[in-house]
Amino acid sequence: MSDHMTRRGALAKAARGAAALALGGGAFHLVRKAEGQIVWNVDAAKCINSRLGETGVEVCGLCTTECVVSQSAVRAVNEFSKCGRCNICPAYFNVTSAVNEKGLPSEKLCPRDAIERKPIGHVDPDDPANNFYEYVIDEAKCDGCGKCVLACKEPLGLGSIVLRVRHNLCVDCNRCAISTACPKDAIHQVSVKQAFDHVQLGSHT
Ligand code: SF4
Ligand code: SF4
Ligand code: SF4
Repeated sequence: MSDHMTRRGALAKAARGAAALALGGGAFHLVRKAEGQIVWNVDAAKCINSRLGETGVEVCGLCTTECVVSQSAVRAVNEFSKCGRCNICPAYFNVTSAVNEKGLPSEKLCPRDAIERKPIGHVDPDDPANNFYEYVIDEAKCDGCGKCVLACKEPLGLGSIVLRVRHNLCVDCNRCAISTACPKDAIHQVSVKQAFDHVQLGSHT
């Protein structure tokens, strides 16, 4: 088997595993919710951290602090279909920190160490730019602070990390406390079907 095929096979396998992880409890919980039920969701096109054109502005942490659940029901999710699986991911590394002996930034960006970096296939130490990594967010650790979301946007990132209300964690407040506080009116209600379609779209490669 050629190197090319080996790389493609490894990428496809990693993508399938990552998609299953991304679907995780949130999607499974969604399909069990009653058909026609309305759930809260983050509109990535409006959210300060997610929407394009906001690179460099201060991160909005209101999804973390305003939720009535002690560890917010909002989490960062990596939409693997968009992720470049970069060697130096600006959402994983603090790209302004000093470079270490491996040629990588010495500090991570996430304050909760909630992002895992796993190599895909063979790692060639002599060709770091041609090595690929899977970045998986640990839902148990993440609190939706949005730092990685803001960092994963052009020009350094591809905008593959977004904030989502995780429906296995949200208690479906009648008036979502985050929607009241959000300066961009980015928390809105959608049907279970729309929310489920969105999860599927974001997770497939
Ligand atoms: S409060 Fe609104 S703008 Fe702030 S992170 Fe949440 S969805 Fe984004
Ligand atoms: S949203 Fe915040 S806590 Fe969650 S993975 Fe990103 S940087 Fe870490
Ligand atoms: S509806 Fe309630 S639990 Fe769900 S995200 Fe909003 S404030 Fe948090």
